[in-house]
Amino acid sequence: MDLKELKLTKRRSAILDDLGIKTVEELLMYYPFRYEENICKPFKEWEINDTVIFGAILLSQPSTFRYGKRSMTRFKVLYDDKELNITIFNRPWLKVQGDKIVIKGKYDGASKVTALNYSFHDIEDEIGIKAIYPLKENIRQSDIQAMIKKGLEIYRSEDILPLSLKNKYQLMDLNEALKEIHLPSSKDKLKKAITRLKYDEFLRFYSTLKMLKDSNETSSKAKKIDLNAIDILIHNLPFKLTSDQQKCVDDILKDLASPYMTTRLIQGDVGSGKTIVAAIALYASVKAGYQGALMAPTEILAKQHYQSLKAILKDINIVMLSSDTKKDTEIKKMIEDNKAQIIIGTHALFSDDVIYHNLGLVIADEQHRFGVKQRRKLKEKGQDVDLLLMSATPIPRTLASSIYGDMDVSTIETMPIGRKGCDTYLLKSNSIVSIMDEIKKTMASGKQVYIITAAIEHSDAIKVKDATNLYNSLLEVMKPYRLGLLHGKMNQELKTATMNAFINHEIDILVSTTVVEVGVNVKNATMMIIYDADRFGLSQLHQLRGRIQRGDDKGTCYLLTDSKDENILKRLNVLVNSNDGFYIASEDLKLRGPGDILGTRQSGLPPFILGDLIADTKFIEVCKKDANEIIERSSEVEFQNYYAKIKSLAILNNID
Ligand code: ADP
Ligand code: MG
Repeated sequence: MDLKELKLTKRRSAILDDLGIKTVEELLMYYPFRYEENICKPFKEWEINDTVIFGAILLSQPSTFRYGKRSMTRFKVLYDDKELNITIFNRPWLKVQGDKIVIKGKYDGASKVTALNYSFHDIEDEIGIKAIYPLKENIRQSDIQAMIKKGLEIYRSEDILPLSLKNKYQLMDLNEALKEIHLPSSKDKLKKAITRLKYDEFLRFYSTLKMLKDSNETSSKAKKIDLNAIDILIHNLPFKLTSDQQKCVDDILKDLASPYMTTRLIQGDVGSGKTIVAAIALYASVKAGYQGALMAPTEILAKQHYQSLKAILKDINIVMLSSDTKKDTEIKKMIEDNKAQIIIGTHALFSDDVIYHNLGLVIADEQHRFGVKQRRKLKEKGQDVDLLLMSATPIPRTLASSIYGDMDVSTIETMPIGRKGCDTYLLKSNSIVSIMDEIKKTMASGKQVYIITAAIEHSDAIKVKDATNLYNSLLEVMKPYRLGLLHGKMNQELKTATMNAFINHEIDILVSTTVVEVGVNVKNATMMIIYDADRFGLSQLHQLRGRIQRGDDKGTCYLLTDSKDENILKRLNVLVNSNDGFYIASEDLKLRGPGDILGTRQSGLPPFILGDLIADTKFIEVCKKDANEIIERSSEVEFQNYYAKIKSLAILNNID
């Protein structure tokens, strides 16, 4: 429904504009973030410091004293046969209308009340449970409350929830729930309203997801798996696969052999060995007669994959497609003519001018950096493409299946044996002075060091160490050791050159922003210093220090911070005490919520308003089951309408 129907003043229209609310439906979905309960108690039950609300009769005119910019206004009222002295600060304009007033304030004992607020409404209007809305500057609660009240009066929402489900859980009627969530008539009703709306939210999300998953199940040709060749490949590896790696390989082979296009997420901590799993999958695809593509988020990472895959898959023709090689046309021709069997690159892999001969498998490394659309685009490059996504931001299994409900998930939980891990220290000072000797000792022993900063250049707005200035100030101090600088504003060529210099040990100490975060493998680097560690998420810090756990030596990581905030220090100490990515991710989730960690839209993270992915796992399970049932039985009269509505919404939001 159009907002015009509300007949708003210009000022209120502007408020809705500011909040991004475009329809009456959206306004009614602007839910309160908390509630206040106003109970009117008789005077004899008051205790000192109680917050009290009461309707009183005025006994005297307000008199105001001003002192500087401040003011104090006083008057007398009668409540419950008791004469009370009211004080209210900084309301010099208070004018009395009639002889009644409602006061909300703090009882100071004796006959004194410090008022926080007042109104000339009926006391009946002020008591009960009051919704409090999230606000921006210059917007008043009363504005939102009034607009929502009006919205509720003129708008009736169509309830599409199948009746059988509504009855099964005795869910509240939709319009009643909308009214109760904004204007609760009792705690019990409010609870029921939230349950109803939350149920709708989850049900809609998981129905859409299930619909998506089903529509993704386009049939493709089943790939013929050459088990013999794969066994030989695995047998000839310089190490034995961990049982989790083996399980992933088995899952993938099943996907390839299935007559549907499949999507699987492989998640495993940094260093858990996902690359080899990818290599085996690509090999299987090639042996089945299909090309395979591996997409990395950066050129550097693509290059590393190219090199490691060439070492493992000696009898396969592997090419690298980068956005800046001159040989590109030649390589593209090889791809089209099926002379290249495995193709590695960045987004360049799905440019329009790259034509595959027979693409059968696409792998996206560090998938949370790729949007849903990009994934789809790559898949469209072939008829029989299976998709494999690799993520190093592991999340607990139950959560993964709710977030990534549209794909299957395989998890590598155990690390390859012999990992030395990393010692992490928290330094409560944003300076390396105290560890200068350690840093130099590390380089003297022939090892390399990363220094990570949160910013590229100096800015007055945020006070953090920046890579550029730090690099300049260290040039002299670090002599004779060789310094490098790496950040996102450098051009691609310079970035690659610097990273290569670090890989080839022509640089001892690399000052960098988080561009080194993803996947990069420099075994000789064993120390990392992270400035302003409080600026990063736990999972991100864990990913970063994964860079120094690649070789045979134990890594050392220093987290620097100036913060004195107990909670921040507690959060950072999670990293000092644990090197388990799953544990760290779940702590991070508890502290910050999933949106921050996974990047909402990109990962397809559900935009729940009322629902909470962490707290509502049981609730979610129920809704998922119901959603699956609706979609499976969508042709039955009972579910037809819901299905059709969900489908049209999905199309409207462009998510099918
Ligand atoms: P990530 O999961 O972070 O992508 P990689 O695939 O880069 O990790 O693996 C990290 C290192 O572990 C590589 O040097 C790889 O050769 C090695 N590796 C992988 N699997 C095993 C294994 N089963 N046993 C021993 N080392 C392994
Ligand atoms: Mg990797």
